[in-house]
Amino acid sequence: MIDLYIDCHAHLFFSPIPAEAIDEDITGEIPTPNMDFIGKMISNAKKKGVRHIVGVISNPNDFTSYQEQLKLENIIHVIGISRNSALEDQSHMISQLEKEIERKVPHGIGEIGLEYLYGFDKLNEHEKNTFKKKQRELFGRQIQLAKEIDVPIVVHAGYGTDKDLVEILKHEQAQEVGVQIHGYMSKVELVSELLDMGFYFSFGYNHPREEELKRIIEITPLERILVETDAPFHIMDSPKRFILPEDVVLITDEIANLKEIEPEVFINQVLRNARELFRF
Ligand SMILES: [Zn+2]
Repeated sequence: MIDLYIDCHAHLFFSPIPAEAIDEDITGEIPTPNMDFIGKMISNAKKKGVRHIVGVISNPNDFTSYQEQLKLENIIHVIGISRNSALEDQSHMISQLEKEIERKVPHGIGEIGLEYLYGFDKLNEHEKNTFKKKQRELFGRQIQLAKEIDVPIVVHAGYGTDKDLVEILKHEQAQEVGVQIHGYMSKVELVSELLDMGFYFSFGYNHPREEELKRIIEITPLERILVETDAPFHIMDSPKRFILPEDVVLITDEIANLKEIEPEVFINQVLRNARELFRF
C-alpha cells in the first residue's frame, strides 16, 4: 500500500458545525470537535495511506487547540485568522496569534485571504465596503507577520476578490515566503498570473468534478499542485456525507487520472511540493 498521501489542507480542530448546516439526508458521522472524533479522523486517514495532514486553525476561538495539535504526529501546523473574523478587534486577535506562534513557529500562516460573497447577503452597501476593507487590512497584516517569521501563507481566494487579492499579494511581495492558493474556485484567467508569481494551487473534491475547475487542473504544472480536503466543511455527492482527510486518497487518484500520470508518481510529486512549500 502507498502511504505517502498528504492532505494539504484540513481543519482538525474546528468550531462546532451549526445544526442548520447539516441536512437531514446526510449519512455517516457528524463531525464534532472532540478528541474522540479528531483521533478517529486522523487514524482512519492513516489506515488509508495518508501520512501527513496540514492542520489549519483559522478561527481565533480555536487558537487554544494549537497546543493540542502540536502534540500530534505527522501534522503540518498552520495557524492564522480567517476573513470571517475581520470585523472583530484585529489588534487583539493578532496579539493572540503572536502568543501562539511564540510557543512554536508554525509551518505556515493561514488560512488568510478574501471572500466577498459568503456572509455578505444581509449587509448594506456601506457595511459591505467596511467588511471588504477590514478583510484587506487583516490579510495584509498577516502576510507581513508571515514574512517576519519566514513561513509561507495559505490563501483563501474567494469569488469576486481577484483584483484586490493580486494587488495585496504583489504589494506585500508574498512570493518571498511562498503561497498555497487553497480551494481556488475563481476565474481561470487569473491562474497563469498566480502561477507566474510562483504560487502553488491546492485542489479539492470539486475540482475534478466541474468543467471550469478541471481546466485549472489542466493548466497547472505538476510541480505546483497540492491536494486537499478542507475537512470537515464539505459534503460528498454520494453517499452524501462529510468529506474527511481519508478522502484525499480518492481526490489525489482522480487528479492523477486527469493529469494522465501514474498515481504513485503523482503522490510522490505532491508530497515533494508540500515539503518544498511548508519546509518539513
Ligand atoms: Zn479551510
